[in-house]
Amino acid sequence: MKAIVVTPMVANSLRIKEMDPPAVSKGQMLLNVQKVGICGTDRDIIAGFYGASPTGGDFLVLGHESLSRVAELGSGVRGFKPGDLVVPTVRRNCPENCLNCQNEESDMCLTGHYKEHGIKELHGFASEFAITDASFVVKLPESLIEVGILTEPLTIVEKGEIQTYLMQESRMKWKPKKALVLGAGPVGLLATTILRLRGLEVSTVATRSADSLKARLVQQTGAQYINAKETPLKEMEDEYDIVFEITGSPSVALEAQHLIKTNGVVCYLGIYKMQQDTEDAGKLFTDLVLGNRVHFGSVNANKTYFERSVNDLTKIKKKWPGFLEQIITRRAKMDDLTQAYQPENEEEIKTIIEIRTLM
Ligand SMILES: [Zn+2]
Ligand SMILES: [Zn+2]
Repeated sequence: MKAIVVTPMVANSLRIKEMDPPAVSKGQMLLNVQKVGICGTDRDIIAGFYGASPTGGDFLVLGHESLSRVAELGSGVRGFKPGDLVVPTVRRNCPENCLNCQNEESDMCLTGHYKEHGIKELHGFASEFAITDASFVVKLPESLIEVGILTEPLTIVEKGEIQTYLMQESRMKWKPKKALVLGAGPVGLLATTILRLRGLEVSTVATRSADSLKARLVQQTGAQYINAKETPLKEMEDEYDIVFEITGSPSVALEAQHLIKTNGVVCYLGIYKMQQDTEDAGKLFTDLVLGNRVHFGSVNANKTYFERSVNDLTKIKKKWPGFLEQIITRRAKMDDLTQAYQPENEEEIKTIIEIRTLM
């Protein structure tokens, strides 16, 4: 079978590799991969910034965002049958099986020794067949065949949103009205929908023009689109109950803290470049204390968030028809490898690779 692989930590080692399909053992599931999604994490791995091969190997199959059909079940696996449409989670427990890993919260792993499909020490799903632990797999209805590939990116938002509400509602009476999303990539657009589903008044900020696809998609959900080139973030200070920061820009992230009002919360979902100048740390922490504000970061997602994500994809599909389909702006084939992983052009939102075209 064909697989899309890299040599981890070696820049531009992306290639197709011919390999034997993996054999399924007890508790596992063999996946007939239909699609994989591409995001910044894949591009960072291709650039050689991070990524690790499975123990003893010297390559890594890419792909952590996926949609598959069950090909074969290992012994002891219940609740699935061949042909089911499924999405596996990305992270697997650490060998120490820390407090969080043993409680089905590997997304909160304490040791950092977790493994991640397509990122760290486990092959990903960008191959014709892939294997995973069946207890980390969620089933999707057939109605999500076109957009189910967005399950994993949506889990990132689900976790941020659920943790936001858990923290805020357990520490005080809280009735949020206004939310701001910084960034309108796939995760920013999905965050816009989830916050709109909560009934919030949402504004989403990006740098594209008001007639761009991103702006139109934001407006389709009833949210307001703000072009950061025309309206500086400074004008939005102390306005929001919730801010989701997804741009990955340290300077935007610093400004994000000033956009929440008293008792507000900022959820950071980006990966930020290190060693950049910071602003006045004294003001930052004073504002944090005097405003009872919360800043928190969130990464990865466990199976609960995947289940929520599948349910919410169905809700979004009903409420805003065509929205999810339009997020997928490019469908590449395994053979257009180099082009598929190129950094995005102006109107690109999400590129996916069709591994199997026959359903
Ligand atoms: Zn991703
Ligand atoms: Zn752990």
